[in-house]
Order: sequence, then C-alpha cells, then structure tokens
Amino acid sequence: MANFRSVDEDFFEELEETLIGADVGAQTALQLTDELRNEVKLQNAKSKADISRVIIDKLVEHYRSQGVNEDASMHFAPEGPTVILFVGVNGVGKTTTIGKMSARYKAEGKKVVLAAADTFRAGATQQLQAWGERNGIPVVAGAANADPASVVYDGVKTAIETNADILFVDTAGRLQNNVNLMQELAKMKRIITRELPNEPQEVLLALDATTGQNALQQARLFKDSTDVTGIVLTKLDGTAKGGIILPIRNELHLPVKWVGLGEQVGDLQPFDADDFAKSLFG
Ligand code: GDP
Repeated sequence: MANFRSVDEDFFEELEETLIGADVGAQTALQLTDELRNEVKLQNAKSKADISRVIIDKLVEHYRSQGVNEDASMHFAPEGPTVILFVGVNGVGKTTTIGKMSARYKAEGKKVVLAAADTFRAGATQQLQAWGERNGIPVVAGAANADPASVVYDGVKTAIETNADILFVDTAGRLQNNVNLMQELAKMKRIITRELPNEPQEVLLALDATTGQNALQQARLFKDSTDVTGIVLTKLDGTAKGGIILPIRNELHLPVKWVGLGEQVGDLQPFDADDFAKSLFG
C-alpha cells in the first residue's frame, strides 16, 4: 500500500479545513481533528466507510456532550394556548419559519393563530398574512408601526377566545442596542404573562446558517436579552453546513430545535444530530 501514514495526515488536514469551512470555528476544528485522529487509530478504522462512521459518531458525541442538560423538544402549555415567540434579526427567516411551523402543527390537528408583532419591517405583516391565507390560519395584525406589544395583546386575546392551542408571535429583531431589544421583548412577555398563566413556553431564536460567525454573535446578544429556549437554524439548503451550531452550543448551551431547508411550507425539520454530523463533511 502506498504511504498510508501520509494519506492519513492529508486526510486529517483536509478534515480540519472542512470543519473550519463548515463554520465550527478554528479552535473546535483543531480539537475535533485531534480527537478524531486518536479515535480512528484506536478503532483501527481503515476503510472509508469505517472512518466516516467514527467521524459522525464523534461529531454527534461532541454535539450531545455539550448539552447534556438541554432539552431539544418543544414545550406546550398543559392547558390554554401555548405561546411560541420568535426572535432574531431581520431577514433570518422568522416569518417564513412561523409559516412553515404553524402549517405543520395545524396538520397535526392543532388550532393555531399567528400574531404579526413585527410592525417595524415593511411587508412583514403582509408576508405573515399571506402564509395565513395559504394555510387557512388566522393572523392578528396591527397598523404599521403599531406598538408590537398591542399586537401581542390582541393575539393572546384571540387565541384565548377562539380556544387556540398555539399562538405564534413574530417579532422585529431590532439590534441597534440590546437595551431596546430587551425592553421590547420584556414588554411582550409581561403582556403574555398577565393574560395567561405562564411565560411563553418557547422563545425560539432564528439564525441564518449562511451568516457563519455572525450567527454566534447574534445568539450571544439575544441570549443576554431574553430567555431563549432554542434555536431554529435556517437556510441550511444552501452551501452553509451549519457548523456554527457547535460553538453556539459549546458557549451558550442552547439546543437547536429546528432546521430550515428552503422557502416552501414543507422545508422545516426537527433538528437531528446524526444528519447534522453527516452534512458537516458531506
Ligand atoms: P425575517 O425577517 O426574519 O422574518 O425573515 P423572512 O422570513 O422574511 O426570510 C427572509 C428571506 O429568507 C425570505 O426570502 C425567505 O424566503 C428566506 N428564507 C427563510 N428561511 C429559509 C430557508 O430555510 N431556506 C432558504 N433558502 N430561504 C429561506
């Protein structure tokens, strides 16, 4: 056999580059590659299929070990409407994800209502209304530039009056400074908690996989501003591999709950660590 050692080394160097290219961050890529080099040796993996298996297992293990106490499932209110609040900067895919996720829950037999509390971005309300019309789901909206909290209030009222199971709330991710953001989100939460027995069951942070390290920065800021319960990583249908999930998890301990794989209604999947690991270097 030709010099297997050097093929081996080339392979691991390439793997490290692949991981960096997939946005896992240089430090994590180095650490993972070192661990993989040992693991491949330890398990005496020689064939491509064996090596792939070792790598995928390691990546999944790495993903899971960072979040042993995290719960990646969705939480629902024992009674009364469950509130799912969406946060994230402009353009990451909040409205689209709400469109997809609400259709999915409706198809499961849940009664859903949408609240268009992103009154800041021109077109956000119409976009949500279009999703509502397409899927036969009611949308509560306010006037342009209305106080988002008043839309949330109307949304909660409608959800209670119509016996809805889930209220999805679209918000504007204004990031000029996180004091504003924090206050705006806190106000929405206060209204929800005043009208319903609990805080929102889910505060999902949407992050655009194509923005790489920026997504990590956004996650830090939103986590500081509100109690994020999980991440939706969008736009994984493009070239982005979503490796940013690893540093987000290592540092912030936030579970990824969903991934967005396109613009159509069916393009939303619960996060699967095994699929993620395969796609990282696939
Ligand atoms: P928002 O400002 O956070 O509400 O973002 P939008 O929902 O308006 O999405 C911004 C753009 O990204 C739109 O053109 C969406 O169609 C697109 N988009 C959202 N999610 C995905 C996804 O998973 N894949 C792709 N390819 N595009 C997406």
